[in-house]
Amino acid sequence: MKGVSPFLLAVWLPSTSFGQESLSKGIPSDAGSPDAPVLFCIGMHIEPHGGGMSKLVKSGIQGNGPGARGGKGYKDVAFFRRHAADIRTVAEIVEAHQGKLTIQAQTPFTQTAAELKEMILGEMEKRGHEIALHFHEDAHMGRTVNDLTVETWTAVLKEEIEWIRKAGGQKIRYWSGGNLYPGVLEAAVGAKLNVMGDYKNPKSQESDPKLLTVFPWRPSKGPKDNDVGEFAKHSAAGKVIYLPSGLFGKTNYGGRRRSEEAGGDAKYFDFLTEGLEASLRAARKDRVNVFHITVHAGEFKGRGGKPFAVISEWLTKVIDPLVRDRKARWATFTEMADEFLQWEKGHPNVDPRETGMAPRPHAETARRRPNLSDDVPESPAREIGAGPFPLSEDPV
Ligand SMILES: [Zn+2]
Repeated sequence: MKGVSPFLLAVWLPSTSFGQESLSKGIPSDAGSPDAPVLFCIGMHIEPHGGGMSKLVKSGIQGNGPGARGGKGYKDVAFFRRHAADIRTVAEIVEAHQGKLTIQAQTPFTQTAAELKEMILGEMEKRGHEIALHFHEDAHMGRTVNDLTVETWTAVLKEEIEWIRKAGGQKIRYWSGGNLYPGVLEAAVGAKLNVMGDYKNPKSQESDPKLLTVFPWRPSKGPKDNDVGEFAKHSAAGKVIYLPSGLFGKTNYGGRRRSEEAGGDAKYFDFLTEGLEASLRAARKDRVNVFHITVHAGEFKGRGGKPFAVISEWLTKVIDPLVRDRKARWATFTEMADEFLQWEKGHPNVDPRETGMAPRPHAETARRRPNLSDDVPESPAREIGAGPFPLSEDPV
């Protein structure tokens, strides 16, 4: 050890080696108001690990999603059971804070669950969580997915929903995914889905500043690649309610929760706290205000031996006080949408996105918003399994 300064040693060792990382940010007491509560939820994505293309798609090339990466993924019973156990653990933590998850599932997780008669999704629904669809379109329909017809999309969405039903989930109204397909809204309505969220361009892995708000709306048209102008515009005639993630101002974070650029779990959750604070400050008493964060099944890796500690600490330090002060309220995604439906009845001619206020300056700089909701970029490095974890377990 001679010649190695203690400072360098401290930098080199992961911080968790010295004990639990800790959160450093809280919500200032002047943020938020019980007159304008923010509805809050934790979304959980289940990725298509080990999945393949739907037989309803006649031809095509397997896409780049986790389904294409090889390995058995959720077809491996041990892998499935490990993630199912993680989902239960997160649910228990959230329930200890009187909270709710919206668990978004897809094949092959749902298929394996049904085949094993492992009714985890039904059990979660009975416990007050919401079951929904997370739809990696290229995993299920191949690389040319955005050239397929609305009818094909609807058929595959229905097929995915049917597998969720077989795994016990019954009330499916929300989906995430299909973000580059202009017909996605129409296709989803055909499959009886009517609430959407977590928009992100799967190519750039970025959301869009136009979507950074706390007010739900009805998109006028589906999103196009590099053009969410119409999608971000409210139309009272729209059949789908879009739930934004909230306001996030920082743009220089690398992304997903476990990324090194984010600086680890505690820093990532501190970043979420900042977004929550901005969202509380943007909330209005004459609107429905929403905010959510997203976690992934299986992303809890055991760093420092306490993989779930950070979420537990965050709920205790950040969320519980807001709920106690009635500045935030737990709600599943469709409960948020139902509150929006109620609000619409009382405000028939109001554009929910029209606030009469100048845009918040930081929203314009948020083009490089971190990947709060979802996947790793489709970079070649990812495809060949770069990163600290075994490829098949990577959260995406
Ligand atoms: Zn995903």
